[in-house]
Amino acid sequence: MQIFTTIPGLRTFLADYRHDRSIALVPTMGALHKGHASLIRRAVTEAEVTVVSIFVNPLQFGPTEDFSRYPRSLDSDRQLCESLGVAAIFAPSAETLGIGNSEEITAVVPPISLTSGLCGAFRPGHFQGVATIVTRLFNIIAPTIAYFGEKDAQQLAIIRQLVRDLNLAIEIRACATVRETSGLAVSSRNQYLSAAEREKATIIAQSLQLALESFRLGERQREKLLAIVQKNLDRVPEFRPQYLDLVHPQSLQPIEQIEARGLLAIAGLIGQTRLIDNIILRQRRAVIAIDGPAGAGKSTVTRLVAEKLGLTYLDTGAMYRAVTWLVVNSGLDLSAEAAIAELLSLAKIEIIPADNPENVTIVKINGQDVTLEIRSPAITSQVSRIAAQKAVRQQLVTLQRQMGMSGGIVVEGRDIGTNVFPEAELKIFLTATPEERARRRLKDLEAQGNGGISLAELTQEIEKRDYLDSNRSLAPLRKAADAIEVNTDHLTITEVTEKIIALYHQGEENQWRSL
Ligand code: AMP
Repeated sequence: MQIFTTIPGLRTFLADYRHDRSIALVPTMGALHKGHASLIRRAVTEAEVTVVSIFVNPLQFGPTEDFSRYPRSLDSDRQLCESLGVAAIFAPSAETLGIGNSEEITAVVPPISLTSGLCGAFRPGHFQGVATIVTRLFNIIAPTIAYFGEKDAQQLAIIRQLVRDLNLAIEIRACATVRETSGLAVSSRNQYLSAAEREKATIIAQSLQLALESFRLGERQREKLLAIVQKNLDRVPEFRPQYLDLVHPQSLQPIEQIEARGLLAIAGLIGQTRLIDNIILRQRRAVIAIDGPAGAGKSTVTRLVAEKLGLTYLDTGAMYRAVTWLVVNSGLDLSAEAAIAELLSLAKIEIIPADNPENVTIVKINGQDVTLEIRSPAITSQVSRIAAQKAVRQQLVTLQRQMGMSGGIVVEGRDIGTNVFPEAELKIFLTATPEERARRRLKDLEAQGNGGISLAELTQEIEKRDYLDSNRSLAPLRKAADAIEVNTDHLTITEVTEKIIALYHQGEENQWRSL
């Protein structure tokens, strides 16, 4: 691991990776704890190179806030980053970032609708300071992915908007709040709390938990949910709330009633220490993401799981076929990536998933039904060339996410759990040893009358394919940190399917997420 304090040092280090590797950024103010560690762990598994920035940003502290006494612990931060597999720490000084006098620098001003409520009302200028520094870090590091904690939900919404508004080619990934066993959200500022205060502070998470339970029983009304939280908070007068609100997680505007999702957020003081916490109240059917190497039985298992659970099988392959059809029929050269990106952006692709096992996914392009045509050998032979194009992949991932937003789907691929649906309720990594996959393949080939290849040769071929799939620059095969590995070596298709279904039911019972 390397530590850089200057922009030229870091940029030169990253230049080697820029071309085709994914670069993750985890922006922090240091004093790293297990909340940060969860972001870093995800970054390290999901991207090729991870940079952790450590900078206590003076622009985001108010004049009476704790800038000078904010905890700083570069030595232990360095050790933690190193142990987690971070490639580089970027720890610039304020001078390096050129932010001497806040009056004299270009500021990034997020929309007032996002900054006027919640923490923004109590910390004037805070989010402008965050946005200004994060934009600089984005420009210096130019990451492909950046990780932020849901604990700072307002910051997350503002950064997402910033990336959209400034057309930055950075994907923002949100990580669930990490908590102490008491429920208290882990924070660098928890260090300021005495043992007694720490105990009192658990009332925050406990109150959110009560709202969550009520939400699960069907409560959707603002007034009722806020009243439950307020009543419980009142039991601990040492906690002095600044706000308690129910807002839309993206617009941050107060909502009267939860439709799809609501963000219930609290901030307040215990002694001199300001604490924040929140919970997303969301109800949707689960998303099941099934990733794994080629030949592990993913597509058969995925279809069966969808059928047995009455969920929708999201056929991502049909999407790539649809685009291939579009390109072939437009007369464009299949390697004309820019023209294809433009063509696809202007096209209307409709994927209507099968609602029973007998029928197939209906695919329409610009209103024309191409369900059958996309299965022709002419399309089948070209689809991998189209699927290898970055812009195609990006646009189809966006479409897949839109289709999966309200849940109730099963999807298979190489990077569904890490990239397409990182927030999937159930992630399965379906695998089998290369020898076993070779044996299965040989059996298939022999059944088709195509024997004549040795088991050893097939095993070698499969190992080579695994290596290529894990090291390709676009959508490499990755096991998500929170995926459950299912090795199918000694299992039948039915046993594998049943295992996944059991995991699903178990998750449903526990409602997937709790505080
Ligand atoms: P900070 O160092 O406080 O600026 O935090 C750096 C990043 O870590 C931000 O994206 C935070 O949202 C995230 N973070 C801080 N605490 C937690 C936590 N308990 N769980 C998850 N993420 C967190």
